Amino acid sequence: MAGNKIIVWFRRDLRIEDNPALSAAARDGRVLPVFIWCPKEEGQFYPGRVSRWWLKHSLLYLSQSLKSLGSQLLLIKADSTLAALLACIDSVGATRVVFNHLYDPVSLVRDHHIKEQLVELGISVQSYNADLLYEPWEVYDEKGLAFTMFDAYWNTCMHMQMEPVTHAPVWRLEPLPTSGMIENCSIEDLGLEDETERSSNALLGRGWSPGWGHADKALTEFIEHHLVSYAENRLKVGGNSTSLLSPYLHFGEVSVRKVFQSTRLKQILWAKEGNSSGEECATLFLRAIGLREYSRYLCFNFPFTHEKPLLSNLKYFPWRPDQTSFKAWRQGRTGYPLVDAGMRELWATGWIHNRIRVIVASFAVKFLLLPWKWGMKYFWDTLLDADLESDILGWQYISGSLPDGHELERMDCPEVQGCKFDPEGEYVRQWLPELARMPTEWIHHPWDAPTSVLKASGVELGLNYPKPIIDVDAARARLTEAIFKMWELEATARACSSNYTDEVVGDNSEGDENSSIPKVVLKDRATSFTISSNDQRVPSIQNLKGSLVCKKRPNEIAVNELRPVHDNLQDQPGSSRRDEEECSTAESSAAKRQTISRESFSVPQSSSSLNGLTSNEQEI
Ligand SMILES: Cc1cc2nc3c(=O)[nH]c(=O)nc-3n(C[C@H](O)[C@H](O)[C@H](O)COP(=O)(O)OP(=O)(O)OC[C@H]3O[C@@H](n4cnc5c(N)ncnc54)[C@H](O)[C@@H]3O)c2cc1C
Repeated sequence: MAGNKIIVWFRRDLRIEDNPALSAAARDGRVLPVFIWCPKEEGQFYPGRVSRWWLKHSLLYLSQSLKSLGSQLLLIKADSTLAALLACIDSVGATRVVFNHLYDPVSLVRDHHIKEQLVELGISVQSYNADLLYEPWEVYDEKGLAFTMFDAYWNTCMHMQMEPVTHAPVWRLEPLPTSGMIENCSIEDLGLEDETERSSNALLGRGWSPGWGHADKALTEFIEHHLVSYAENRLKVGGNSTSLLSPYLHFGEVSVRKVFQSTRLKQILWAKEGNSSGEECATLFLRAIGLREYSRYLCFNFPFTHEKPLLSNLKYFPWRPDQTSFKAWRQGRTGYPLVDAGMRELWATGWIHNRIRVIVASFAVKFLLLPWKWGMKYFWDTLLDADLESDILGWQYISGSLPDGHELERMDCPEVQGCKFDPEGEYVRQWLPELARMPTEWIHHPWDAPTSVLKASGVELGLNYPKPIIDVDAARARLTEAIFKMWELEATARACSSNYTDEVVGDNSEGDENSSIPKVVLKDRATSFTISSNDQRVPSIQNLKGSLVCKKRPNEIAVNELRPVHDNLQDQPGSSRRDEEECSTAESSAAKRQTISRESFSVPQSSSSLNGLTSNEQEI
């Protein structure tokens, strides 16, 4: 065994502890740890400035840790990950490659392809679960289908057996010297941070410490001191009221199994002590971890969700892809203080509280009718914890795209939310200094304030702080109109397509509200697999069953009352997209991207650089 030469391919598993690929390699032979940075392959999901800053520092941390274990992290900048891996294999004469699974659509396609190629060349490849409590193909309902509602999914998870943290800790690594054929980049040569970004990035280091050791400390600090008040604190929008673990979890600097087990242990202790509020805090925190699991579950089983909603109802929604309002939203100049404060915090720090994410995202979609994909991409570009799966889940949740998310017609008013979640106006004052002197009574709706109050506060609406970009009533009317338009287009499409008419019969069945979601079969007689199978599964077209039909809509639409919406660049009625939507394989998802982008509006590129700026307590 000691003679084995093994490549450990690091990606978003930048830790030593509970790292199954690293443990397996360390146990079985001599190890070459490698990180390959291949910007070309990231495509439209090339990480933003703050996310790359985090990655750079986390890699530095990991590199130092591996050095102290006796090895060295090889950093490679490449045009092709496969070519880089093959060069590493050649350079050390490796016979095996190991890595941990990723579930986003881009990685699924790439990893599957790389695995196939390596195996064809006679290289042994093993992949492991290091990112999830349960693999996305392990959890299914009693019919063997993939869940499309979070609560049912999470209830099932909570009753399943979970693998404990069993991977042997790595104390020492047998180094594997490379021949001169491959170039070991310095961390700077990887190009994760541009020269122009350095000064803005320097501020990030004051608030955050990337690296798995810091992740471990953050987890311990949270579990020991803050978990007990999570239920109450998670509702506060200012300050550090939640765990702040998201960037660590995204880059795999802390094992989610460890997070789960530490929380569960506290929960059991508190239950024994009769501390029911502590128990409740642990339940809510585990639920948050469950949402992260669910985001991967949805992306894996429905790999089109980075491009299209899970529910097909939004297919005909007349979005307003208006660059001016998109810019006002990005710059925090909508005239709604809570929204603007959130967007300025996001730009300045790369992080905002979940509640603020929901508020600003809902505003973009419901008030401005901006395509949810634009918002998703902007978050992707600007968040420190930018995580494709969680970002998709968040945006689909707020835009009426999930059967258990906010309804499309639900419209929360930022003024009311401001009074509820920022009652003293402290959050707004922190991020909008131009409103700092506004009395609390008016701070969330300065447009209603008497002129004398505005004057005394030094606020001139339209001059040093914008007037509301759209009036609440007008926004509500516009959203209602858009929904009617969507139904009208849907009805026209139904009438135009004979295929579609057939499907509508299915839609008439009572209680079949979610039938617009393709059914994904995870477990049937033909596909039985064991829990904790080491191999990465790939979503397959055979897994999709059932028809794609839309939710039931009112039969009569007052078409005459509807104003034509000219901005509708979405799918035109009658164009059947059924084939595309049924394509759920990772492979077809990538190929499909080309086709789809021709028909629908694309996400504005480099949206971050355009930014002119240097119901329910159980909701997500
Ligand atoms: C529109 C929108 C976009 C979002 N984009 C991202 C993103 O790009 N990256 C990201 O990590 N989270 C995203 N979230 C989820 C959530 O806002 C953050 O995970 C959370 O605010 C991170 O703070 P925390 O670590 O202190 O969370 P805590 O409340 O302490 O939760 C602990 C962990 O649970 C997970 N979690 C909590 N809430 C969610 C959730 N709603 N969805 C998925 N996972 C969750 C995170 O990993 C988080 O670190 C988004 C939410 C919305 C509404």
